[in-house]
Amino acid sequence: MNPTVTHSVDRDQIGWIVFDDPAARVNVLTPAVFADLRAALAALAAQPVKAVVVLSAKERIFIAGADLKWLAQLPDAAAAIAVSREGQACFALLANFKVPVVCAIHGACAGGGTEVALASHWRIASEARETVIGLPETSVGTIPGWGGTVRLPRLIGAAAALDCLLKATLLPAAEALRLGIVDELAPAAELKVRAQAAALRLAANGLPARAAPPAVDAAFFAGLRAVTAKKTRGFEPAPLQAIAVVEQTAGQPVDAALAVESRIFGEVTAGEVCKNLIYVFFLKDAVKKLTVDAWFPPAAAAAAPVPFKKIGVVGAGVMGSGIAQWCAACGYEVVLRDVQPEFVARGLAVIRGVFDEAVARKKLKPEAAAAGLARVRTTTAWEGFGECDLVVEAITEDVAVKQQLFAELAAVVRPDCVLASNTSALPIEELAAKVAEPGRTVGLHFFNPVSRMPLVELVLSPHTTRVTAERALAFAKALGKTPVICRSSPGFLVTRVLFFYLNEACLLWEQGVATAELDAAMRGWGWPMGPMRLIDEVGVDVSDFIYGEMAHYFPGRFTGATVCRRMLAAGMKGRKNGASTGFYTYAGGKEAFNPAMAQFAPAATSPLTAAAITERLNRVMIDETKRVLDAGVLKSPEDADFALLMGAGFPAFRGGLMRHARTLGAVRP
Ligand code: NAD
Repeated sequence: MNPTVTHSVDRDQIGWIVFDDPAARVNVLTPAVFADLRAALAALAAQPVKAVVVLSAKERIFIAGADLKWLAQLPDAAAAIAVSREGQACFALLANFKVPVVCAIHGACAGGGTEVALASHWRIASEARETVIGLPETSVGTIPGWGGTVRLPRLIGAAAALDCLLKATLLPAAEALRLGIVDELAPAAELKVRAQAAALRLAANGLPARAAPPAVDAAFFAGLRAVTAKKTRGFEPAPLQAIAVVEQTAGQPVDAALAVESRIFGEVTAGEVCKNLIYVFFLKDAVKKLTVDAWFPPAAAAAAPVPFKKIGVVGAGVMGSGIAQWCAACGYEVVLRDVQPEFVARGLAVIRGVFDEAVARKKLKPEAAAAGLARVRTTTAWEGFGECDLVVEAITEDVAVKQQLFAELAAVVRPDCVLASNTSALPIEELAAKVAEPGRTVGLHFFNPVSRMPLVELVLSPHTTRVTAERALAFAKALGKTPVICRSSPGFLVTRVLFFYLNEACLLWEQGVATAELDAAMRGWGWPMGPMRLIDEVGVDVSDFIYGEMAHYFPGRFTGATVCRRMLAAGMKGRKNGASTGFYTYAGGKEAFNPAMAQFAPAATSPLTAAAITERLNRVMIDETKRVLDAGVLKSPEDADFALLMGAGFPAFRGGLMRHARTLGAVRP
């Protein structure tokens, strides 16, 4: 087998260690890579070198970190501790090498890659955009276990190090320089030359003296622990454990500190939460490679889909304005239509508001926001639709009205224009029943608010052609969204599962289980909000409407609760569109139980334990998802897990709904 790490010595007696796994697109750290690194270091140790440079030969990656598949299958804490100890020992060979070691970083340098850099004596990073550096381990439920939690605080101080560890993001090279994680920047083309110069300089002058980083006191750790505990709500151990390692090892010799790091790394890495978060990591990774291949017979020739340029959006309400804004922000020309000038004006005001907010949150520069806003044209007629490559309709959720619109649209747009519906639940083939070429129809189900929700359900009707599906998929990805592909069926996945769940919560409520118990139980299980609060957020009107749709499409199986209808009749719409009464009131933005709900409640309360509530409500979701899968609406349980994570707020630390179901033995492995 070709080695993943090679070594050489140049004429200036600089040793070069190059990470380049010949069998993979990216360098990751595996047992084989550690063995190859040890061999390379042993070979250089036996030669008269003045200094060593470590680098990668990959175009866009330095080292992406540990092989997460390897970490995920470690059987227990002892095995994880052994992995940590071995890695630490290997990187100690770098840290204690007989001559200075310079790490030259170009491309993504994450986790174990950053630990290689930290074990080196000098770090020089390329200025290229693709060079990003950090320790994102807590985002996958673990902590750096190969010296990262020990060396980073010693380099930049505990406060800055913990900020990096808890944010778990990869920093641009300039930011890494500012924080002191790297020592120098160089243009990518000069990285090797500059690394060699640094190596010769260190060889001649010795290692630079480094000033002691700023120290912190016990109050700092206590404060950070309190904030982190609040944020993680007791569900994710890794962030708190990262704090614990840094606090416990402050001031200790490196070797003793590394032993603490290993022990805690072992505990968290062997835990269920880490395994679940690694599973989620791979779900997200798979979306980048998603194609429509599983849904169509093999294509004759694989031509790249023709990208859309101009997008029409019909309906300037909540969703239409959100979709128009996001498309414009992503660089598309947009024409937005509604039936009345005041509706168009209201939509445009919403769009302006979203752009303004993006500027206020420093997500967009003011010029970019202004340019985005200028890309949106509006109309109450059909001007501009003749040039559209895609039209997304987001009008009232009504089959007859949407059918009529599709027929009208088909007569206005070019024959190659793709026609998409943002319907939450209606089968696409029903909406497109009056379209002459239904092959160009598809569902693009965005979630509210469009600018923040990553999921798009890409819905294929029996007529949708491969070309239409490919173009829609490429579009969803170009919008930076994470699509999941489903077959057209009432409610697709997310609406169906979510509203079976919310309806079940309402049925329990009608039986006398209190709002507080229902919401506390589901929040206590990890959901970001409970079902009754979610109904308020989605809108009591929307919830009741979708219950009606579900009852229509799943007669006999879906018994609609009536509380939402009764609330609506009393003018209680939840929290949407300025409304502020529902299961809760929101005066001054503060959630409080709504005493007016007493009029709808049964005479007697009927308390249930939190465990019984979560068991019952989770069971409804699991059963419905199984039905969706059995009907072939989705291709795999992983797709369902992904969609519910991204579209319904399923708690990531639990991995996914169907993954959870497997642990209960509720579904076949
Ligand atoms: P909305 O009531 O806020 O907006 C609908 C808009 O469509 C209104 O402004 C209305 O005047 C306009 N309209 C109606 N007929 C029209 C026509 N023929 N031409 C142009 N405009 C027309 O509704 P919404 O919440 O934005 O929902 C729109 C669609 O998106 C629905 O199909 C809904 O199921 C779906 N959806 C909604 C959400 C959500 O959270 N609100 C989420 C996902 C999907």
